[in-house]
Amino acid sequence: MTDISEIQELLKPHGLIVRGVLEATDIERAPIIDGDTDTRQLVLVGNAGSSMWASFSVSSEYGDALPHGLDRWSRRIGEDIARQLDGRALFPWEGPPYPPFLAWAKRVDQVFPSPVSMFIHGEYGLWHAYRFALALPGRCSGIIGAPDGDSPCLQCADQPCLDACPVDAFSVGNYRVGRCLDYLEADEESDCRQLGCAARRACPVGRSFTYQPDHARFHMEAFVKSCLVKQ
Ligand code: SF4
Ligand code: SF4
Repeated sequence: MTDISEIQELLKPHGLIVRGVLEATDIERAPIIDGDTDTRQLVLVGNAGSSMWASFSVSSEYGDALPHGLDRWSRRIGEDIARQLDGRALFPWEGPPYPPFLAWAKRVDQVFPSPVSMFIHGEYGLWHAYRFALALPGRCSGIIGAPDGDSPCLQCADQPCLDACPVDAFSVGNYRVGRCLDYLEADEESDCRQLGCAARRACPVGRSFTYQPDHARFHMEAFVKSCLVKQ
């Protein structure tokens, strides 16, 4: 039996953390693991704040300037660690069918929907992500569940996230991505492009986890590029 602390140690050099553990019997959308009778538990892995940036930003995947550098970095690390644990790695972008990471996260992590179209975490705020999951044939010991708690948004009377966007991309209850993209494309020097989404930065929760500027800039550039490719 693998202790969860051993997995944490394997992830630590990459700035990644265990975000939660699901039982195989509790995994939604069984076709993701259809025919996989070996998997007993699924360990969700991700980052909180810029913890992974020190590792990713010096990696070959970051430096080669080829597309999807962060996904390729995640794949290399996820598959290597899964191999060491006799399991396999699953990735959010790999499909169809795509593994339902957010549905899984809602079950085992302290995350909730927010008004700005991303999940908010009770401690990390809007500054976190899921990179991969480890499908393991055995059970882990030493698992500590996420603390109970309500969404921080329920206590947030002013909702500053909804007033911070310079183009009101969230003002009608959904994310008007076209408005956001037009703004980002028009001004490469805007704070959103250089420092990260202003709506996200306005949230008071998890401020100490705010992505550092080069990390935030990387995601904004990747977002703009991916939207342009789809057009
Ligand atoms: S600013 Fe308030 S409402 Fe908006 S995401 Fe943060 S906690 Fe939730
Ligand atoms: S990145 Fe800027 S323009 Fe886009 S939604 Fe966030 S605040 Fe609005």
